[in-house]
Amino acid sequence: MATAYLSIGANLGDRLQQLNQAIALLKAQPEILVTKVSPFYETAPVGGVVQDDFLNGAVALETTLEPLALLAVIHDIEQQLHRVRKVHWGPRTIDLDIVFFDQLSQKTAALTLPHPEVYNRRFVLVPLLDILPKTSVYYSKVVQANARLGDSQRLQVFNGV
Ligand code: ADP
Ligand code: MG
Repeated sequence: MATAYLSIGANLGDRLQQLNQAIALLKAQPEILVTKVSPFYETAPVGGVVQDDFLNGAVALETTLEPLALLAVIHDIEQQLHRVRKVHWGPRTIDLDIVFFDQLSQKTAALTLPHPEVYNRRFVLVPLLDILPKTSVYYSKVVQANARLGDSQRLQVFNGV
């Protein structure tokens, strides 16, 4: 059994419903046990494309799947939620990324672990800190990266409307 952390985000359509649907679809997978879901945050887009604010969260799960099989599952969920990939780093109905998969470190065309942008994005780090145990090998790096970013990227807890 492996422990993985996912980052989830949406900025098109009913963002809250899409995040909740993505989580429900993860929970419906027989090989996946969702153990924690962070609060959601409303966040400014990062990367230069002018677009609406995102709703972001993080999910902890246990899985018997191999990393590439988990990636296939999250791509499938993105398809089911009608994600359209048009602009790189542009608007999307849903985005699911694997942030950490156990302590695996790899760089292949299909999958880089840890996620290559994790330490540069407050919208990944802040929800992750809500659910990452202090005993995680990544904990201090996440705390330090988050401190380094300060409040350079706008983010606030989502109040539900
Ligand atoms: P982004 O999430 O960077 O905005 P996409 O969601 O379109 O962009 O992802 C593009 C590709 O990134 C995916 O098809 C996937 O193969 C690859 N990828 C590499 N590492 C990861 C990871 N850790 N989690 C999710 N996708 C990844
Ligand atoms: Mg992605």
